[in-house]
Parts: sequence; structure tokens; C-alpha cells
Amino acid sequence: MGVYNCEAILLAVRDYDATSRMVTLFSREHGKLSALAYGARRPRNELAGCVQPFSHVELALSSGKNIEAIKQCAIKRSFRELREDLDRMAYAALVAELVAELWPEREPEPAAFDLLLDAFALLGSRNVRVAALAAALQLMALAGFRPEYRQCVVCGQELAFPARFDAAAGGGVCATCGEPHLTPFGAEGRDFLDRLLGLNLAAPGHFSVTGAVLMETERLLGEFLTWRLDKPLKSLAFIAALAQDKSGGARGQ
Ligand SMILES: [Zn+2]
Repeated sequence: MGVYNCEAILLAVRDYDATSRMVTLFSREHGKLSALAYGARRPRNELAGCVQPFSHVELALSSGKNIEAIKQCAIKRSFRELREDLDRMAYAALVAELVAELWPEREPEPAAFDLLLDAFALLGSRNVRVAALAAALQLMALAGFRPEYRQCVVCGQELAFPARFDAAAGGGVCATCGEPHLTPFGAEGRDFLDRLLGLNLAAPGHFSVTGAVLMETERLLGEFLTWRLDKPLKSLAFIAALAQDKSGGARGQ
């Protein structure tokens, strides 16, 4: 393919060797790719400033024997605000990790690309927990993994609330169909999921939710994600550790 151009969002950037970085990117034209940014760890290197996680960039890539190399990089939008705040960074990393897990290499998905851009803009400006939930749910739905929250996934009847949520079965279950150890799932949780799924990320308008419903929804979507992807997301563990730090700090005061 020689050298080619693409528009991309950098999902993850890590050190590769003493001078280079390895990038996982999501491009509008070619989907997910890995690429090496040679020299990007050198301060004066022209790639150093723009090869940053979450950046929206124009790239010139050259295809190598095993892996692509980034030849040029121009920033369209840096999303610097996502790297300068620990909470925003943690939730942006979660959404980025989810995209990387949901789509295989070289499978273009322009709708997911646009959704991710809107999600990053929202994560930089609004409540990160709500923005991340909306983005995660909409990305899952786009990939064909929407949790069922109107009907019981066991008996098929319209869900009566309070219900429970069975991640392994794919969604809500009536109290009589579900095991008592399953996560509680209330009517407010259902309404919240509905709003998250229908939310226009580019123009979300006013949004309010109680802390209890937010926590319940985070818990059940976290379970659903872990089960659907068949592995725990690294960024979810990091978010949990952040939350633990905060509650530990509060107790200490
Ligand atoms: Zn049922």
C-alpha cells in the first residue's frame, strides 16, 4: 500500500523502546490499526507533540512488513482536556479501550468513529460518568451488543419492576425468574438506560440522574461489558481504584 493518509483517533499510546512509541488507533477509513511512531519519545521529534492518547489527527502511514509506521501526524483536535484531569482521562481510556475491544483490526466503522469523537467532546465538558455510560451503551449497541431492558430475557414477558439484571443472560429478568444474588434493577434504571441510548452525544441538552440510579447503572453495565467481552477491561479496574482512593481520602478527613 506504500504511504497512505487517514483520519484517526489515537486510542492508546505506549512506550515501545527508548525512542519510539506504539500507537493503537481507530481510523475512519481502515478501522483499528497498530502503528509505530519512530522517534516520538525524543523531545525534538516532530511526532512527539501530536502522538498523544485521544488526539484526533490526520496521519500519513506507511505499511511495513509487520506493522504500519506513522510518517506524519497533524492534529485536528488535541482533546488535551482529557489528559489533564485524572477522572476525564480514566473515563476516556475506558471508552477508547471499549472501541479497541469491540472492533477487530481493519474493519472500518465510520458511525463508531463519529460517535467516539462526540463522546470525547462530551467527556471533556460534562459529567464524565454520564457521558461515559452513554458512549459505552451506544458503542455496544452499534456493535450489536445492546442489553435487553424492556423484556425479561428468561420468560420474555414485559419486565415488572423491581427486577434484576442478569449480565450473562443478556439483560433484565423478573424477580421471579432471576436469582436473588443478581444485581437489582429498578424502573428508574430502565428509564435511565433508555435516555442514555437515545442521547444525542453532540447536543445532549440538560441531564439529571440520582446518584443511586447512576451507581446501579454503572454496576450493571460494567457486569454486562465484562461478560460480553469475556474479560475485564483494564480501565474499569483503574476507575474502581480511583473511586476507592477518593472514599479512603474522605474517611481520613
Ligand atoms: Zn421472567
